[in-house]
Amino acid sequence: MPRQHSICRFCHSACPILVDVEGGRAVRVKGNPENPVYQGYSCARGRALPQQHSHPERLLHSQKRADDGSFVAIASTRAMDEVAARVQELVDEYGPRSVAIYIGTASNQYVAAAAAGVGWLIANGSRMVFAAATIDQPGKHIANALHGRWLGGSYLYDEADTWMLLGTNPIVSMVATVSCANPARSMSDARKRGINLIVIDPRRSEAARYADIYVQPRPGEDPTLLAGMLNVIIEEGRYDRAFVENETRGFEALRSVVSQFDSAYAAARAGVAESDLIEAARTFAAGHRAAACAGTGPNMAPNGTLTEYLLLCLNTLCGNWRRKGEALPNPGVLMPEAQAFAQAQPPRKGWGFGEKVRIRGLENSAAGLPTGALAEEILMEGDGRIRALVCIGGNPLVAWPDQNLTLEALRKLDLLVTIDMKMSATAREADYVIAPKLGFETPGTTHAVEAPEQMWPSVGYPRAYGQYTPALVDPPEGSDLIEEWQFFHGLAKRQGLPLTLYPIRAEAGPLREAKKPLELDMDAPPTTDELIELLYEGSRIPLAELKKHPGGGVFDEPATTVGAKQVGWEGRLELGDATMLADLAALREIAPVGDDAAFPLRLISRRMANVYNSAGRDLPHFERKRTYNPAFVHPDELEQLGLASGASVRIESEHGSIPAVVEAADDIRPGVVSMSHAFGDAPAHDARFREIGSTTNRLIDTRTNFERYSGIPRMSAIPVRIVAAD
Ligand code: SF4
Repeated sequence: MPRQHSICRFCHSACPILVDVEGGRAVRVKGNPENPVYQGYSCARGRALPQQHSHPERLLHSQKRADDGSFVAIASTRAMDEVAARVQELVDEYGPRSVAIYIGTASNQYVAAAAAGVGWLIANGSRMVFAAATIDQPGKHIANALHGRWLGGSYLYDEADTWMLLGTNPIVSMVATVSCANPARSMSDARKRGINLIVIDPRRSEAARYADIYVQPRPGEDPTLLAGMLNVIIEEGRYDRAFVENETRGFEALRSVVSQFDSAYAAARAGVAESDLIEAARTFAAGHRAAACAGTGPNMAPNGTLTEYLLLCLNTLCGNWRRKGEALPNPGVLMPEAQAFAQAQPPRKGWGFGEKVRIRGLENSAAGLPTGALAEEILMEGDGRIRALVCIGGNPLVAWPDQNLTLEALRKLDLLVTIDMKMSATAREADYVIAPKLGFETPGTTHAVEAPEQMWPSVGYPRAYGQYTPALVDPPEGSDLIEEWQFFHGLAKRQGLPLTLYPIRAEAGPLREAKKPLELDMDAPPTTDELIELLYEGSRIPLAELKKHPGGGVFDEPATTVGAKQVGWEGRLELGDATMLADLAALREIAPVGDDAAFPLRLISRRMANVYNSAGRDLPHFERKRTYNPAFVHPDELEQLGLASGASVRIESEHGSIPAVVEAADDIRPGVVSMSHAFGDAPAHDARFREIGSTTNRLIDTRTNFERYSGIPRMSAIPVRIVAAD
């Protein structure tokens, strides 16, 4: 069989790949050098897809927990019979709210996986949808709501003259704070083009190699640093006066609060040179096509929403939004055509609407229900307790904050179902583990990458790009595998419920016509290919046209430009949100993050190359190097601790303790521990930490130091100490 085009679905970047299929199995993968956007890019994870599909630990049949705690294979139809019946019993006895779903980061890659899960839950009458969004970067959603959004969209990295990356390393994370399609190439091209790049990160990351200005702050002081930069820009009159006057409100309130963060104070508190802070502020303000954006580190640290809000203020103050008559680089492919206008959609409520949880006064927010409170919600007795949880694309036992509490909660559930390709840490606690098809066995599209287009600066494709792939191979012979959406369809059908797929909304950026929810036929369900046809009806580029470009196509024509402000439009962006400014003012009154003699180090989150969180840890390309997540610290720190690189240690926080391996890394700021999250396993597996890694989430307390808007606890900039292992 000839080499075939497809889309990698290992991570969220949807790289175009060329796949050699022999004897009905994918045997080799490489990037597609002719692809106009990715230009041949692929990573080791994508090239290991054949090994992922044929991994000896891959589940080829769904599993059911037996009475003695072991697992036995169960037919997927039987599993759906039993799960549907049990869910119905719980709904009948305890009400719809007793059933919840958790949507993890690996759900986006598969057609309608999350949409079908949500549709099934809603059909049951429950609104208890929890997702990784509230323990990852919830501040982005909430800050966007509080600030308002610019309906002309933002500038993109590939066209920018100035850019600022705050605690984000897109070369490794592939999170699109620069182009998600081949970020290293994009950064190298931008450097040749003469971009002014500012990188702020406690770790001199791979992205920092391209920086003109690199600032290495103390973790957790991002709002201080940003307030200091805003103050410099305002005091020196370097902001876009016309834009601020015509399109915003609240400028004086912002000016008043940031004036308390003069450059000397802000720099001292953030642990950077005052001259660096001033230079970064002046350089950023001098840009014409610019943006500042942050990643998981600042968002997982305290005050993540405030950090995101101040970044939006920085972008708005400098007028970094696309104006009337400018080209809109990506008006959409599988989404309906975007309508861009040079006008502001005013702020909306950021939290405190919709469904509530019973924990610590937390409520739904623009990022969703607080996953940081989900374990407590399951454990708390009384009306409204969650008793059944279905997980899609996630591994809560290593991903949710406070691992011990999570383990207790998962064990308290009446029913835990997870869709997983392996017996992960969570799967081993489940009642049913549903074995899914993998990428080469299912059709797919690039829609999920396109979907959040221009939600935040440089998210999504820099051009109107899209790709469709058919399934390339059949599932392994003798297997019984099911796609996620089909599992939820099967449950709904058995419960006599309808199944409606709710479309993914573009929360920010240009306007799009709202798509109607899609109601599926319960007696004659579509195939996944037919479902794709239905999902993308009304797309800017017809699916049939996209299919003519099997290696991916660009559909720039006809060009779309940003329209003039609509007559009578009065929306303005909010620079002076009272809650955010009160949070900022309060920072003046409290000590810097982690100023604690007992726990003098600050543990920050990071990503590691060649894994997706820890997925892929057991694939050959990773195993050749190391299969755990080291605790990287500066060599001077190790010397002070009297430890050698590679030593076994314990990392302790006020809340917990984990075994780990320390490694020297001179790119880390002294006083900082840099460690990848979502590694390891349940505490019972601690002895294997040199093989499977360490779960940093055990160090996190969900009940103290949490943000009141999203409930995210302090998941980065965690005060810790390192002690030698016994
Ligand atoms: S970056 Fe993600 S999508 Fe691209 S090849 Fe690697 S794993 Fe696959």
